[in-house]
Amino acid sequence: MKALVYHGDHHIALEEKPKPQILKPTDAIVRVLKTTICGTDLGIYKGKNPEVADGRILGHEGVGIVEEVGESVTQFQKGDKVLISCVTSCGSCDYCKKQLYAHCRDGGWILGYMIDGVQAEYVRTPHADNSLYRIPQTIDDEVAVLLSDVLPTGHEIGVQYGNVRPGDAIAIVGAGPVGMSVLLTAQFYSPSIIIMIDMDENRLELARELGATHTINSSTENAVEAVFKIVSEGVDVAIEAVGIPATWDICQQIVKPGAHIANVGVHGVKVDFEIQKLWIKNLTITTGLVNTNTTPMLMKVASSNKLPLKKMITHRFALNEIEQAYQVFLNGAKEKAMKIILSNQA
Ligand SMILES: [Zn+2]
Ligand SMILES: [Zn+2]
Repeated sequence: MKALVYHGDHHIALEEKPKPQILKPTDAIVRVLKTTICGTDLGIYKGKNPEVADGRILGHEGVGIVEEVGESVTQFQKGDKVLISCVTSCGSCDYCKKQLYAHCRDGGWILGYMIDGVQAEYVRTPHADNSLYRIPQTIDDEVAVLLSDVLPTGHEIGVQYGNVRPGDAIAIVGAGPVGMSVLLTAQFYSPSIIIMIDMDENRLELARELGATHTINSSTENAVEAVFKIVSEGVDVAIEAVGIPATWDICQQIVKPGAHIANVGVHGVKVDFEIQKLWIKNLTITTGLVNTNTTPMLMKVASSNKLPLKKMITHRFALNEIEQAYQVFLNGAKEKAMKIILSNQA
């Protein structure tokens, strides 16, 4: 089968690999229909995760058709259309019992990281009963791909951990796919002011279309000053959705007393934490990896077509054009790329 394989810092290639086999009775083999490239995949490509083995198939988001199941799999059978969650969970370890599926003792984020992933014609999914979700007929396959990672990540780690409440003023720093997912799912809780901060005018325009009440272009104006012009005391919730020191700095400067800072971004280097200014502010600061415990709820919302999710999809390629798709996503601003869908036509 064809698969996108990682070979160390800045080396990836579409290659012929053996089709995956059932290794444990709880596994399923899924024929991939649609997959995508995540910012995290770009991080691996750029050498941010040297722990990823040479020869690893990348990708952790996608939908497909169950091809084969191990003998202990009871919830799925050959032919079922399924969402492949970015997080694998056994459902029975101590972390799974606390719904911290991201930290499952035999799972968590492993697809396209510690085990072969979804940017391939077929993928082996461990703990299939807990890690796959049946897809209702009413959900478009492309929209379903957003449920693997970006929507639950934005909702759980941005909106829920940030404790967004009705009437709040919130700021989202970073208008990428996860920032946009924060923007969409924050609106479940009716904040009164939603400020989106980014350096890319196209992304800010899309943010306004998707519900941002204010946008700030941090390449042309001082983002912190601009936030205080909108909300004189600062925001109730600041959500960091980039993962670099500069965006963390904005978050810690724009919050009012009692606020939440929810960090969603994947950081590669340390940040300055201005505890000497923040100790007095009664802040709650949260971090985390998506647990996917709200995936079933988000599936229902997506199937009702209440969210303009399709607007997040900007590019489409065949799976065998994935190297080109990586180049487009790497030049996201220039290419006006948000979410790229790859279709397996094999
Ligand atoms: Zn992802
Ligand atoms: Zn577990």
